[in-house]
Amino acid sequence: MSIGVKVVERPIEQTSYVRATLSGLKHTIKHLLDREQVTTQYPDEKESISRRWRGTHRMLTTEDGKAKCVGCGLCPTVCPANCIKLVPGEDEQGNRYPLVFEIDEFRCIFCGYCQEVCPEEAIHVGRHYENSEYSREGFVYDLERLMAQTHPVSELWDPADPKGE
Ligand code: SF4
Ligand code: SF4
Repeated sequence: MSIGVKVVERPIEQTSYVRATLSGLKHTIKHLLDREQVTTQYPDEKESISRRWRGTHRMLTTEDGKAKCVGCGLCPTVCPANCIKLVPGEDEQGNRYPLVFEIDEFRCIFCGYCQEVCPEEAIHVGRHYENSEYSREGFVYDLERLMAQTHPVSELWDPADPKGE
């Protein structure tokens, strides 16, 4: 049995590399001359982030500068990443407060459950993301550091405004 070879004729404009190359160059030159700037010159320029952005935590304080946390234990209980360390204390008047309160921002998955569950609206995820460190230990924020944060806090999801508009 003989094997036949079928020669498929294709027009030169479909097979020419010159044509494809020129087409690619046309796109390159078009973008070179395009004055619309699409690159953000970070960190000199920063894009605005959503009001619901969940980033670096903040511990809010009372008027006399104490942490609003009452050491109830809800946030470490609900935290799916198990990254909140709380040791509660109690003063002579029976007021509870955190002896130790730490959040490992490296382990945190920024779900926002701690903010949602806090009865005192003390702990918040924040609209902040610039928290790089040189060591893992540097990501463990103690109470003092959490209280020293000043960035805006995140807004919780609102069923009446699902897209946050
Ligand atoms: S945001 Fe979520 S993972 Fe992070 S500390 Fe709060 S509860 Fe834990
Ligand atoms: S839920 Fe709020 S009050 Fe309770 S331990 Fe956490 S931060 Fe403190």
